[in-house]
Amino acid sequence: MNVMMLASEMTPFCKTGGLADVMGALPAALAPYGVDARALLPHYSTLDFAGHTLESLGRVHVPFDGEIISAELQQLVDSASPTPVYLLECPRYFRRARLYGEADDTLRFGFFCRATMEILRSSLLGDWRPDIVHGNDWHAGLFSAYLKTTPEGRALDVKTLFSIHNLAYQSTSPSSLLPRLGLDWSTYTLHGLEFYGKINPLKAGLVYSDVLTTVSPTYAREIQTPARGEGLDGVLRERSASLHGILNGIDPAEWSPRHDPFLAFPYSESQPANKARCKAELLRRCGFKGHEKAPLIGLVSRLSSQKGLDLVAEALPEILDEGVTFILLGSGDARYMELFGELAKRYEGAASLNLGAFDEALAHQIYGGADFFLMPSLYEPCGLGQLISLAYGTVPIARRTGGLADTVADWDDDAGDGFLFDEFSTRAMLRAIRRALAAYASPIWPQVVGNAFAARWTWEGPAAQYADLYKSMVAPGGPAA
Ligand code: ADP
Repeated sequence: MNVMMLASEMTPFCKTGGLADVMGALPAALAPYGVDARALLPHYSTLDFAGHTLESLGRVHVPFDGEIISAELQQLVDSASPTPVYLLECPRYFRRARLYGEADDTLRFGFFCRATMEILRSSLLGDWRPDIVHGNDWHAGLFSAYLKTTPEGRALDVKTLFSIHNLAYQSTSPSSLLPRLGLDWSTYTLHGLEFYGKINPLKAGLVYSDVLTTVSPTYAREIQTPARGEGLDGVLRERSASLHGILNGIDPAEWSPRHDPFLAFPYSESQPANKARCKAELLRRCGFKGHEKAPLIGLVSRLSSQKGLDLVAEALPEILDEGVTFILLGSGDARYMELFGELAKRYEGAASLNLGAFDEALAHQIYGGADFFLMPSLYEPCGLGQLISLAYGTVPIARRTGGLADTVADWDDDAGDGFLFDEFSTRAMLRAIRRALAAYASPIWPQVVGNAFAARWTWEGPAAQYADLYKSMVAPGGPAA
């Protein structure tokens, strides 16, 4: 079984969020299930190629935006990396200072999808032919539209699976782009990629793909409701029978306190003492003195309204009044950068708010050194922060939504590995924090930490589920959109 995964980011080459982690781990995790999964992503000029070399496989000539645009297919050669990684090099669209956020994003990733079809029509991949193209998020949505609605696409014998990692990002654009993308006006309907007078690349993925997945069972249910459907809940309800919720996992090779190169002191469930030394090291790095005994709450996040940061900003004085040390690492929306920038000045010495940098080392040190990991998300498709923090024996305090509801068990008597709250309010969040602090101060605390360590959210289970789904898709009479 051959699967080509299309994505806009992948660790260790480029990352802005959890999708990169998924791409960095899932293809390799599929191998034991007989799936040869490969990745194709744009060759951004900002890619981190440390330790890799690039090999050209040749060029494709892509009819796009009224021209024939030439792009190079490259392969990353790295004997240590189990997953073949292909890159699409086209400086016109991908030589930019950042991965996304450009005015022409829909065209850029439309080109990525259209060029993918051209690659599948070519002989550049040698003998290797995908049975399934597995697209991820809006960046890959238009691929399924090209495949289903163009003569070149219909001639290809390939199935499509489309994964929603975050329904909120859709890249809706003016309908005038449709002919520039090379799509027919017949796609511009309620049952196609039209969306309130615009075109919607994410909706293209939802309506034209054979099978849909999202990254947790709870989020799969939530996005079929008006409250969390981002305007697409009706489309998703129509496709309900083809929509599967499969949790993400984490890669123990990258996320384990036993061998984390960013931690000064390795530790494990059976030797937890070094966790305290990691905490001391983190406190030192963040400029705190004499805070070793105080409970330490960490937060590592994109700064966006999804992540419940308004609750954190509003409740920060009360959190600190509880005797907590607070360390945040985040980058993202200007509004939160300003808000937390002001709080950083006001609470200097009690809170360490590290803004603006994507800092892999500090992220690992927070997962390792904190006692608690805070995720008060408004919504959370899966969430990786809580899975990572559990692996580090760092107890999550989280809102019961999406993947957080599916992976964190609320502490109750002697069971559970985290502290959950339901209502999206500072009051409810503070109540959960106070329950967590009471547990920290009581003799049961080692048991809470032990339960966190014992949670195992690896890729094995999810990879088996994806493999089953792929197999059902290529079986005779398999699903079709
Ligand atoms: P999302 O994909 O919505 O951003 P996830 O919880 O699925 O959220 O994944 C976030 C990933 O990005 C985690 O691996 C987290 O540690 C990492 N991350 C987020 N912000 C930063 C940052 N500023 N520096 C380093 N890592 C970060």
